[in-house]
Amino acid sequence: MQQLEAQVKTVEERINQACKRVGRNPKDIKIVTVTKYVTPHRAEQMIHLGYTQLGENRWPDCKDKLAQIQSDVTWHFIGHLQSRKVRDVVKHFHYIHSLDRLSLAKEIQKRVPDHAEPYPCFIQVNVSGEESKFGLQPDELSTFAKEVAQLDRIRVVGLMTMAPYESNPDDTRQVFRGLRLLQEELNQARIFSEPLVELSMGMSNDFEVAIEEGATCLRLGTVLVGKE
Ligand SMILES: *Cc1c(COP(=O)(O)O)cnc(C)c1O
Repeated sequence: MQQLEAQVKTVEERINQACKRVGRNPKDIKIVTVTKYVTPHRAEQMIHLGYTQLGENRWPDCKDKLAQIQSDVTWHFIGHLQSRKVRDVVKHFHYIHSLDRLSLAKEIQKRVPDHAEPYPCFIQVNVSGEESKFGLQPDELSTFAKEVAQLDRIRVVGLMTMAPYESNPDDTRQVFRGLRLLQEELNQARIFSEPLVELSMGMSNDFEVAIEEGATCLRLGTVLVGKE
């Protein structure tokens, strides 16, 4: 636990420094603790340290872990999502970060219960154009956004991207900046009734650059909780 606490403190300090460089308030940045590499016990330790937003990327692999963690957690689904898993994911998670196609949006629309609030989603964009990455191409985004805006059971809160792994994290800057500009374009076109405010970007290797470029939601695994 002591080692975990020290690790967490180091990350918090790095976040504070990155915020300072660009005049941002660390309170404006949410941290999704990605628990996919660690045991429920480690996840519980993070919860005790005050980290109650947790992320997983595969269903049903994480099913037992979610069931074991009884604490009040906000669960974020961050991985590629197959339509046939939407029913379960919507039931067990509070956010989806990987909305990347219309068939998936329609499935979410179908699976959110009548009485429920619209389900918060991030649209995933493949800003870097890497073939191995999921997400919409930037030039498909505006058309897609207009279609999703018609679905009343989905509330788009922002955009999400994954940058390629770079040995020099500064090389990811264009990707993060690109996502922020795409978000500004959508907001200027007033495609959604509320402007999008969230940018889910930045992982262990590149979160400081993401903060400098406007991230509001970091998805941190290894650097925060290690790998077990
Ligand atoms: C695993 C994962 C992360 C966290 O990765 P780290 O590099 O360990 O911080 C973030 N986002 C997504 C989509 C992931 O699958």
